[in-house]
Amino acid sequence: MSVMESILEQVKKRNPGEVEFHQAVEEVLQSLEPVIAKHPEFVESGLLERFVEPERQIMFRVPWLDDNGKTQVNRGFRVQFNSAIGPYKGGLRFHPSVYLGIIKFLGFEQILKNSLTGLPIGGGKGGSDFNPKGKSDNEIMKFCQSFMTELYRHIGHDLDVPAGDIGVGAREIGYLFGQYKRVKNAYEGGVLTGKGLTYGGSLARKQATGFGVIYFTNEMLKEHGLSYEGKTVVISGSGNVAIYACEKAQSLGAKVVAMCDSTGYIYDKDGIKLDTVKRIKEVERKRISEYVKDHPEAEYHDGQKGIWTIKCDVALPCATQNDIDVKEAQQLIDNGVTALGEGANMPCTNEAVNLFLDNKILVAPAKAANAGGVATSALEMSQNSMRLSWTFEEVDEKLHGIMVNIFKAAKDAAKEYGMEGNYVAGANIAGFLKVADAMMAQGL
Ligand code: GLU
Repeated sequence: MSVMESILEQVKKRNPGEVEFHQAVEEVLQSLEPVIAKHPEFVESGLLERFVEPERQIMFRVPWLDDNGKTQVNRGFRVQFNSAIGPYKGGLRFHPSVYLGIIKFLGFEQILKNSLTGLPIGGGKGGSDFNPKGKSDNEIMKFCQSFMTELYRHIGHDLDVPAGDIGVGAREIGYLFGQYKRVKNAYEGGVLTGKGLTYGGSLARKQATGFGVIYFTNEMLKEHGLSYEGKTVVISGSGNVAIYACEKAQSLGAKVVAMCDSTGYIYDKDGIKLDTVKRIKEVERKRISEYVKDHPEAEYHDGQKGIWTIKCDVALPCATQNDIDVKEAQQLIDNGVTALGEGANMPCTNEAVNLFLDNKILVAPAKAANAGGVATSALEMSQNSMRLSWTFEEVDEKLHGIMVNIFKAAKDAAKEYGMEGNYVAGANIAGFLKVADAMMAQGL
């Protein structure tokens, strides 16, 4: 058994049932094989064993009263995975599927993603199995207040800085921040990112993940003599990431023909009218099926996976993990897809990614392609520390520069380790080397 196989075995044994975490670790360890061949000290020093074990994991009870006066109990999580290069940083996910294995996979990915941004942020993630769907504004507020009443003692602007993820947007961050301020009796603006613009939020943070996906994939396309101009694009999801990826892709001349939510997808062969999607999702918080009421020429289909049967040049999975498995990957390949950009975290199974790579499809991996969100969170922290705010253009320009640098780092690392054009391995290696160096320097 190779070193990597035995570490993966240990991870599986120590974290039974946490399948998403196993999957994320397996994917990374595989691409680090050439790194440990060159750096045996990472094995000899036990660095890899430390790397796959969170520094701290917190689980807590979140009791709250619903609108009927009934007690509800959810479970809260914060995994502080790695602080070698900076305070723990990563979002909070509120979704009924959340359990420790999901938070750990996300926290693990976050270590490498945050390292790739070039900014001083470590990796962490948190969340709850709370389902925000169908809850009143009052219930959301009560839940967020209860969640923060426990979480506040574990976080801080120099310790651990949460932000949003699925189910946590500006509204939730506002309620969480209000409660943090109340219990701490201090205005520590940099303790959360993704804040509203009137109280320390950064311009362009909302757009950052989606814009970043397009900046990164555009660099990748350019590297291979291609561009977004005139390309047909399919985007899964209709949240923050999907909406702003769509906006930026359209501005570069792409035709986005499909988007989806967890119930089904819309196909508009003439191109998605993004204003309608924004109204439905950001203002009305309704299902995407509403789209066809405004645009009867478009089609709505139940079931989200069908979106990958649509012919496209670029596929951008921006919904959730394991959206694309081998079947969907094969459909995309058969339909002539050229490039895949991961906007969500781990949206493809490891087998699907390998199938794309074997078929010479360009793959922009999530850790690199969606790092624009957390990078802009770090820019929000900088502005909070300096007690000033940059313009939209300033933030967007910095974000663009960061995404260009991440692409270069992934490209160069892939080349150096003999896997030219494999940006999946390149991103893992470049992200890992910085963290590994810091961990070695800091000792056990
Ligand atoms: N949830 C986002 C991610 O997956 C952003 C995290 C952050 O801004 O801290 O990277």
